[in-house]
Amino acid sequence: MSVTRREFFKITGSTALALGAPALADAKEQKSKIAGATETRTICPYCSVGCGIIVHTKDGKVVNAEGDPDHPINEGTLCPKGASITQLVNNDLRVKKPMYRAPGTDSWKEVEWDWTIDQIARKVKETRDRTFKLTSKSKVKEKQADGTDKEVEKEFTVNRTDAIAHIGSAALDNEECYLLQKMMRSWGLVYIEHQARI
Ligand code: SF4
Repeated sequence: MSVTRREFFKITGSTALALGAPALADAKEQKSKIAGATETRTICPYCSVGCGIIVHTKDGKVVNAEGDPDHPINEGTLCPKGASITQLVNNDLRVKKPMYRAPGTDSWKEVEWDWTIDQIARKVKETRDRTFKLTSKSKVKEKQADGTDKEVEKEFTVNRTDAIAHIGSAALDNEECYLLQKMMRSWGLVYIEHQARI
């Protein structure tokens, strides 16, 4: 089938119009959704890439979220996880209070933050006091008078507990990670890990 130049432009023009129509409708819907909304810039909490997101809120509710075009890391783009971030807030399944499962039971119950933080503090203190080591023995090579190496056991100051571990979240920023490291090291923890590495 032969197509004239005029027919070619007619066909491609109407196809482009047909494909462009939904995009225009989407843009219009998006505009009406965010009209009068408060715009807040934030960082995606899901992974360590740290993409910038603009969140629109209206009447205390999140109505829209999109990649921040001015952010140097993602320049407006978001992965599927970041793009669905409104579901983190607008979600009936979201757990808003701490949940506790008592030893020997098979069900979870909602508890208050004050009680939870108090419990964590008590358990950390009790575990640290019970397991804190001032020194630890290790085998090292020691130079002898005749020039040979001999393996000997030596005691070193360690000031640590091996009974508590800490795991950080990708939602933490640099400053929070710095403070957490300081706090965990001051408690004597050595097992300090980060969720983004797992
Ligand atoms: S948008 Fe995706 S890649 Fe960017 S920080 Fe969030 S989860 Fe990571």
